[in-house]
Amino acid sequence: MLNTIDLAHADILFTDVDDTLTTQGRLLPETYWAICRLASAGIRVIPVTGGCAGWCDQIIRTWPVTAVIGEGGAFYAARSAAQTVEWHFWEEASSHRHHQSVILDEVAALDLGFEVTLASDQAFRFVDVAIDYNQQQSLNPEQVAAVQNALLARGFNVRQSSIHLNVWQGDFDKATMALRVGRDLLGLEASALQQRSVFIGDAPNDECMFRDFPLSIGVANIRQHLPTMTHKPAAIAGQPSGLGFAEMAEAWLQQRTSSLQGEGA
Ligand SMILES: [Mg+2]
Repeated sequence: MLNTIDLAHADILFTDVDDTLTTQGRLLPETYWAICRLASAGIRVIPVTGGCAGWCDQIIRTWPVTAVIGEGGAFYAARSAAQTVEWHFWEEASSHRHHQSVILDEVAALDLGFEVTLASDQAFRFVDVAIDYNQQQSLNPEQVAAVQNALLARGFNVRQSSIHLNVWQGDFDKATMALRVGRDLLGLEASALQQRSVFIGDAPNDECMFRDFPLSIGVANIRQHLPTMTHKPAAIAGQPSGLGFAEMAEAWLQQRTSSLQGEGA
C-alpha cells in the first residue's frame, strides 16, 4: 500500500541491499532497471548495507548511485571523479584498522571447544570482523551464543545477521552515517535530509533507519519481523525484496509525474 505515503517531493533514496534490492541473493533485472530509472529522474540513490568494502567498491564503480554506505555505517564511498573513489570513515581509518586487528587477534585466541571461522569475505572488510555461523559454516544456537558472549565480555559490539556475527568497535550505525552523508556530501542538515529522503529496507537491522527517516518503506518480506521490531516502516510494499523495490520506484515516479503535471496546470 504505497499510495498512503507522499513521495512526490522526495529526491534522495537510501536503500538497504540484501533482501531489499536482492531477491534470494540475486539482483533481478527489473530491480536494477528501477534503480536506473530513479537515478535518471534526478533522485540520488545511496545504498546502505552491512556488506563489505569490496562489495561497496563494486557498487560505487558500476551502479548509478551517488554514494554507498557499507559495513553497517563504518564508512561511505563516493566518486570524486569518473574513475576515482574516495572512502570516508566514521573515525580515522587507522583507528578502525587498529580496532579490527585487535578483534581479529581476540577471535583467533578464542578457546570455546569448537572452531570459530571468519566469513569468506573477511579480506574485503575495512572495519568489521565477520564470523561465519550460517553461511559456509554451521554453528548451533548454543555455540553462537558462546561466541557472542565471549566477544561482548571483551567490550566489542556484536550483532547477529542471518549468516554472520558482525563484531566492531565504534558508535556508528546505518542511520548515523546516513545523516553524516547528508551533511558532508549533500550539504543538508538532518531535518532537511529527513524531509527529502525515502528509506526502504527489509529487516530488524534497518530499524535505526525506520526510526530516523519518516518516509520509510518495507518490502513485503519485512512482515515476518514486525512483531519483534520497535521502529517500523510507514508503509509496506505488496511485493517482496527486489520486486517490492521496483514497486516502490514505480509509485514514486508516478507521484512525481502527477505532482509536476499538477504544478504545471
Ligand atoms: Mg537487508
